[in-house]
Amino acid sequence: MREVIRAKNSGFCFGVERAVHESFGFINSDGRIVTLGPLIHNTDVTKKLTEKGINEISIDEIPSLSEQDTVIIRTHGVSMEVYDELKARKVEIIDLTCPFVINIQKKVRKYHGEGYKIVILGDENHPEVIGINGYCENSAYITKTGNLDIPLKGKVCVVAQTTEKQANWIKLINNIAGTSKEFIAFNTICKATEDRQKSAEELSREVDAMIVIGGKSSSNTTKLYEICKRNCDLTFHIENAKDLEAIKEKIKYAVKVGITAGASTPEWIIKEAMENL
Ligand code: SF4
Repeated sequence: MREVIRAKNSGFCFGVERAVHESFGFINSDGRIVTLGPLIHNTDVTKKLTEKGINEISIDEIPSLSEQDTVIIRTHGVSMEVYDELKARKVEIIDLTCPFVINIQKKVRKYHGEGYKIVILGDENHPEVIGINGYCENSAYITKTGNLDIPLKGKVCVVAQTTEKQANWIKLINNIAGTSKEFIAFNTICKATEDRQKSAEELSREVDAMIVIGGKSSSNTTKLYEICKRNCDLTFHIENAKDLEAIKEKIKYAVKVGITAGASTPEWIIKEAMENL
């Protein structure tokens, strides 16, 4: 008999829950409702939004918007430049930037204004990091691994993408401490991310197979996968229950199967996969 165990902390976080819940409630009978980029990194959810008439546009498509249109800013936030562009277009702005991301943007703006060199631990191509960098005139030094390939001179202010790994944060702080005389560091890794990573880490140590559920482009899901894979060889990243078909054979002898899910994975997808297993 197989035992399916779910990680204590998994699935929608506070910021994503709020963004998804609110977005499904919007109606605009005069114009379009669009999100700047996919609302969350989960195709099942974005497909449902499209069915409701809420489509995604890229930042480059902002000039195509008219005053009647409504624009939803997702949890990752946008740079000041993009925000001002939307205001200039006089569209209705629904800002669902996660309050934890707004906190990082404010800190970066403040310390950049005070002459600090901003360092961001994160992925330079991730929209959250692109948005944050926009609060220091795109001047941040960005590192994904926590390694520094240039010595940082002068005062330094360090922040992290909310979904980063603690281990990389500690590595970065140690590296900065070795080269910089004056620095201020805000560990802005979100508690939801930390909790999910911790529970996934613990569970992956005690199961025969581990299933990580979430969008393939979701950075926090990918990090959960990496953490679990270190402890459990039979770790698989799936988007939904349908993907289980392809790995069924590989996990057929697994008696204890662990389940975790990224912060952008809806409850119904997790439940369906668990029932299927
Ligand atoms: S992971 Fe944290 S920062 Fe990101 S949306 Fe969720 S609550 Fe907000």
